[in-house]
Amino acid sequence: MPEKKLITHFAIFEAVFNFYTEFTIEKKPNNRPALPAGRSEVLDKIVSLAKRRGFVFQSSEIYGGLNGCWDYGPLGVELLRNIKEEWWKSMTYRDDVEGLDASILMHPKVWEASGHVENFTDPMVDCKQCKARYRIDVLSEMINEKKKTKALEELRNEIINDPVLVEKFSNAFKTEDPFSSVLEDKELSPKLLQEINCPQCGNKNSFTSARQFNLMFKTFIGPVEDTGSVVFLRPETAQGIFVNFLNVQSSSRQKLPFGIAQLGKAFRNEINTKNFLFRTREFEQMEMQYFVKPSDDKKFYDYWKDLRLQWFKDLGMTENKLRYHDHPQNKLAHYAKEATDIEYEFPFGWGEIEGIHNRTDFDLSRHEQYSGKSLKYFDEESKEKFVPYIIETSAGASRSFMAFLIDAYYEEEVKGEIRSVLRFHPKLAPIKAAILPLVNKDGMPEISQKIETDLRKRFKVFYDDKGAVGRRYRRQDEAGTPYCITVDTETLNDQTVTVRDRDSMEQIRISNDKLKEYLVNKILVS
Ligand code: ATP
Repeated sequence: MPEKKLITHFAIFEAVFNFYTEFTIEKKPNNRPALPAGRSEVLDKIVSLAKRRGFVFQSSEIYGGLNGCWDYGPLGVELLRNIKEEWWKSMTYRDDVEGLDASILMHPKVWEASGHVENFTDPMVDCKQCKARYRIDVLSEMINEKKKTKALEELRNEIINDPVLVEKFSNAFKTEDPFSSVLEDKELSPKLLQEINCPQCGNKNSFTSARQFNLMFKTFIGPVEDTGSVVFLRPETAQGIFVNFLNVQSSSRQKLPFGIAQLGKAFRNEINTKNFLFRTREFEQMEMQYFVKPSDDKKFYDYWKDLRLQWFKDLGMTENKLRYHDHPQNKLAHYAKEATDIEYEFPFGWGEIEGIHNRTDFDLSRHEQYSGKSLKYFDEESKEKFVPYIIETSAGASRSFMAFLIDAYYEEEVKGEIRSVLRFHPKLAPIKAAILPLVNKDGMPEISQKIETDLRKRFKVFYDDKGAVGRRYRRQDEAGTPYCITVDTETLNDQTVTVRDRDSMEQIRISNDKLKEYLVNKILVS
């Protein structure tokens, strides 16, 4: 037999062997093994997979990257769009919520009224020796408990003769986190900073005193760069909703209670960007402001709190990795009457993915005050005019992306090999189905291409005819593709194809003409 033909035969044998032996693999369909030990290791693996498979790249990578900015690659952009699409559908495909897309640049007075010019600051310190810059709360997290206790003891000895400082000091011990409370106190902070070593260079007594740093990005509108032309890149999407409250209400003829939803970019000049997409300088938010009668605030706060957690669960996020973190009264933001964070357990610990706030009438009242325009609502039933209360649901699209990505990542042993798989909910999966001809002959490519063309009208699909079919499955597992459709010898006889399920790895045969309906039910209805 000529060598070329021998190779072709071997390739066919290998393809068929790989295809059928996956059935015999010892499978654990419902077993979701824990991620490998070592939390930073998990994050490293996901960051590397994200780059290798085209989910996320560092921004401007060829120039060394830009801190806190990321680019979404071909698979990432699909995942992100799917998350946003699911949010949009769940929030606006209802009769009491309208959509909006406000401009990123807004009148500078907006940010005075909102309190961002004055309050949207983080205290930070610099190390005079090595020039490292820390947000005070982050610095506190970087110091171990033993060193904290020692530093507090030294501070207490130093201030022992000053009754005012002693009182402040003992008040700090009534809080959950005395070290941070002392560090955030104007008078005690500089003294405590003297007792701490810089985590980067190890020097003591090297910190500047804490300075407030505004997190808004400034730019100029028009050709003249003077103070009169300063505008800000919005640090949240919410303000675009508040200032359009009456426009939307009157044009859509909505009555209370009703909401306005908006999706879009927000920018914060974060001092410490860390943990991949968790804290970035440019990110996307998915926010909804629900306008209610003041007496209905509690009812709707509870309603949205339940609904928003359920949204993450319905999209497959692991239940025991989600929790509420209710804000204690003494930690509430200046505008809030009640607030909770929906938190996800990231490999580095619990972190907020969405905030639910009862913002009272703070925002609309402030905009009335600063604009001089009435933002009151006239209630036709009671004939009263009043400023509505607002219940806010504020989620990060990019942060949710990261949580969905991490949550979907599993490694499992299949026949002595590690299989990495992204178990996305089918609605979120970047590619819904891959079409794989078992071999590139006997009419299989033609049938496969026909299936591809047909499915492409409905879904994002992928055609792959390169390499052994087992390896093609693995590539799709890693991309999170829920279904692989294989055209094989049987297809030629009975017009059936196999559909392989990503999670159980089980395959069923299905008639070609029922395939689309099958996938629609599995992907869009599930
Ligand atoms: P954090 O305390 O983590 O800084 P925050 O309380 O300031 O968050 P909000 O202002 O309530 O956050 O913003 C709503 C949502 O926007 C957050 O739950 C988060 O998902 C997202 N978000 C906020 N800041 C960032 C950021 N720098 N990078 C990515 N997402 C962010």
